[in-house]
Amino acid sequence: MNDIIDSHAHLDDNRFSMDRADVIARMEEYRIIMAINPGANYESSKKALRLAKKYPEKIKAAVGTHPHDADEVNLLLLEEYEKMAKDPDVVAIGEIGLDYYYDNCDREVQKNAFRMQLDLAEKLNLPVIIHNRDSDGDMVEILSEYQGRLRGVIHSFTGSVEMAKRYTNLGFYLGFGGVVTFKNARKVVESAAWVPLERLLIETDAPYLTPVPHRGKRNEPSYVRYTAEKIAEIKGIHVAQITGYSKRNAMDLFGLR
Ligand SMILES: [Zn+2]
Repeated sequence: MNDIIDSHAHLDDNRFSMDRADVIARMEEYRIIMAINPGANYESSKKALRLAKKYPEKIKAAVGTHPHDADEVNLLLLEEYEKMAKDPDVVAIGEIGLDYYYDNCDREVQKNAFRMQLDLAEKLNLPVIIHNRDSDGDMVEILSEYQGRLRGVIHSFTGSVEMAKRYTNLGFYLGFGGVVTFKNARKVVESAAWVPLERLLIETDAPYLTPVPHRGKRNEPSYVRYTAEKIAEIKGIHVAQITGYSKRNAMDLFGLR
């Protein structure tokens, strides 16, 4: 295996509180040279930054509020995020977006919080990490408004080839995770077959969406290799192509060196 970057992992999650150091040590064993740890709200954004400070060689943070907590987003919080984002260990605004599957917050509140955080990313010239579930219509509409002014990734992409084309045409990377290894994952397999290597990121979304053969257990960055292997198999190319391109893409997008 070559060096790999896990472009999306929630290592601040409580499910890692008993053995976080071991999980991070296992990254090295499998040549996961870095994980991007997005925040999901103010509290976890602070935790993400603290982790990046503790492991500056291995973890970079993003700060932002997930649509589930969209009602916490206000001007004061944005000021806080702006201060945090001045830290060189913060490499993106995220994860932000829309979630019409759970609908934990009113959709107008979600859209407003999303736009405010997209504006912040544009102001700070940082990439965005986007969560999108059952909300393609509004997502495409909003991202089109920002076309050419923002860069980022549609994380945990599980959509059709048609949607994959729309998001890459808008300049976004697509983040593929464990779902691609699931038995009934037809749509996302087709999209993985289609996605140009120049637009591909790989991720775990740990502790969620654990790939086969560990499906059902807690996910962790070292498992990103299963996703890389599966995408290589789907595309009929060597896994080093997948890890190589996705690493370079992550470094470009997040400005890593
Ligand atoms: Zn996530």
